[in-house]
Amino acid sequence: MSDPAVEAKAEVKQASKEVKESENVAEKYSAMTVSKNSEMMMGDLSPAFSAVPTHKPVKKQIQFVADKQEFSRFPTKAGRRSLSRSISQSSTDSYSSAASYTDSSDDETSPRDKTQVNSKGSSDFCVKNIKQAEFGRREIEIAEQDMSALISLRKRAQSEKPLAGAKIVGCTHITAQTAVLIETLVALGAQCRWTACNIYSTQNEVAAALCESGVAVFAWKGESEDDFWWCIDRCVNTEGWQPNMILDDGGDLTHWMYKKYPNVFKKIRGIVEESVTGVHRLYQLSKAGKLCVPAMNVNDSVTKQKFDNLYCCRESILDGLKRTTDVMFGGKQVVVCGYGEVGKGCCAALKALGAIVYVTEIDPICALQACMDGFRVVKLNEVIRQVDVIITCTGNKNVVTRDQLDRMKNGSIVCNMGHSNTEIDVASLRTPELTWERVRSQVDHVIWPDGKRVILLAEGRLLNLSCSTVPTFVLSITATTQALALIELYNAPEGRYKQDVYLLPKKMDEYVASLHLATFDAHLTELSDEQAKYLGLNKNGPFKPNYYRY
Ligand code: NAD
Repeated sequence: MSDPAVEAKAEVKQASKEVKESENVAEKYSAMTVSKNSEMMMGDLSPAFSAVPTHKPVKKQIQFVADKQEFSRFPTKAGRRSLSRSISQSSTDSYSSAASYTDSSDDETSPRDKTQVNSKGSSDFCVKNIKQAEFGRREIEIAEQDMSALISLRKRAQSEKPLAGAKIVGCTHITAQTAVLIETLVALGAQCRWTACNIYSTQNEVAAALCESGVAVFAWKGESEDDFWWCIDRCVNTEGWQPNMILDDGGDLTHWMYKKYPNVFKKIRGIVEESVTGVHRLYQLSKAGKLCVPAMNVNDSVTKQKFDNLYCCRESILDGLKRTTDVMFGGKQVVVCGYGEVGKGCCAALKALGAIVYVTEIDPICALQACMDGFRVVKLNEVIRQVDVIITCTGNKNVVTRDQLDRMKNGSIVCNMGHSNTEIDVASLRTPELTWERVRSQVDHVIWPDGKRVILLAEGRLLNLSCSTVPTFVLSITATTQALALIELYNAPEGRYKQDVYLLPKKMDEYVASLHLATFDAHLTELSDEQAKYLGLNKNGPFKPNYYRY
C-alpha cells in the first residue's frame, strides 16, 4: 500500500489549478513595502495561489486527539504524564534545547500551579517565569539582527495595519525567532494568543518576554502531554475573544479546534501551516470533504524546501555533532542515508571539513546526483563495519536496523536529521543485554555485552533541532513567508479562496527571496524588453514555471 504522506507530497508537486485572477492583497501590499528590485518583481502581479487537486482517495484516517480527552485544572504530576500519546510526533521531538539558556530545572512547580502577573497587571498567560522577560527581550533583539527582511516588512507595513482585526491563534516552536514573527504580526495589527507545538522547544525567557509585551502565551519547556493540550485549549477558549486565523506547525492546534470548537473553526478565515505533518493532515481533511476553511501550505513553497531543508541542515549538522561529541571530522568515514535536500546539505558540510562521505539512496536520480557531486553511493551493509558516523535523512523508517547497529564499530556515532525518530530503530536497542549510559544531555552510550559502545544522539530525534541552534536567517525566510500568507488569507475578498489547501504562488516565493537579497547586497539583473519577449516572461516575474525544480 502506498504511503499517503508520499502521495500528498507528490500531489503538491503536480500541476495545480489556478485561482481566478483578482487583486492579491498581500502582493499589492508587499509591492509597497520593498526595495526597488522587489517592487519591480511585485509590481505587476498575477495572483493565482494554486489549489492542489484533491481527487485521490484517502488511504489513512487522521489520528485525532481522543474526542473525550479532558484535562483537569490541577492534575497530579503522574496524572499529567499518564495520558496516551495522541500528540503528533513532531510535538514530542525535542527542539533546540541548546538554544535556550534558561535553566528550567531550578523550579519544579508547574506553571499551571502558579499565578503570575506581568507589569501591566495581566495574568492572561501561563509561562515558566515572567521574571525572565528582560533576558528574553535580549534574546529577541539578537534574533532581530539576522531577520532584517522580516523587520523591514514590519516597519513598512505597520502604518497600513493589514492585519487589523485579525485574531491569530498560533502553535509553533516558541523561540526568539518565532517571537520576531509574532511581534511583527502584532505590529501589523493582529491580536495574538500563542502556544507551543513541541513540548521541549520553548525558550522560557522568550515566552516571558512575549507575555510582558502583551501576547498571551501558554507554553513552557518540558510540558507534559496534558499540559500541551491544556495550553492549546487556553489559547483558543477564552472569554470575549474568538480567533479568526490559525498559524500552525504540526496541525495539533488545527485539529483541536476542528474537534473541540467546530463552530469557531467554521468561522476561521484561513489557516497557515508550515510542517509536512500538518500539511498532510490538511490534505486528508480536504480529501474527506471536511475542510471548511481555506488553508495555505507553506511547507511546499520553494523558499521553505530549498532553504530550510538544505541550508539549515548544511549549517547545523556539524554544530549538532560537535556540541554533543567533540568529534573531529577530517578523515572520518561518514555515511549519509538519503540524498534529498537535507542529505545534500549534510554531505556538503561534512565534505568541506575533510570527512570521507558515503551516501545511501533508493532513488537512482538522487544517487546519480550524489555520484556526480563526488560521493560514493553504497549500500549501508557494505560500509557498516568501517564507518565512524551514520546520519539518516530520509523521512523513512527503519533505515538503520538493530542488525546493522550490532555490526557498527566501537565508538561510532549514530544520529538522525529526518523528521521523525523512527529512522534509526532505537526501540530495538532497549533490550536487557544492552546497557544505556547517559553521558551528556542528549548523548547516550549504548553498550554491548562485549564492551562495544555506540554513541546515540538525541535518542534518534532530529539532531540539529535537539542539540544545536538553527540559523536565524533561514528562519526569517520561513517567517516572512508565513506573515505574507496570513496577510493574504486575511485580506482576500470572499470567494478567492475556497475550502481547500493552496500553495504559495511563485511570485510570493520570488518576493520573499528578493526581500532577503538586501542582506547580501546582491543586485539582480533586470530583463530588457527584448529579453523578456524572447523568453516569453513578464519582466516582473514570475521567472520560472511552476514545474521548475531549482
Ligand atoms: P527528500 O524527500 O528530498 O529526501 C529524502 C531522500 O531519502 C530521498 O531522496 C529518498 O529517495 C531517500 N530515501 C528514502 N528512503 C531511503 C532509504 N531507506 N535509504 C536511503 N535513502 C532513502 O526530503 P528532505 O527534504 O531531504 O527531508 C528529509 C527528512 O528531513 C524529512 O523527514 C524532513 O521532514 C526532514 N527535515 C529535517 C530538517 C532539519 O532541520 N533537521 C529540515 C527539513 C526537513
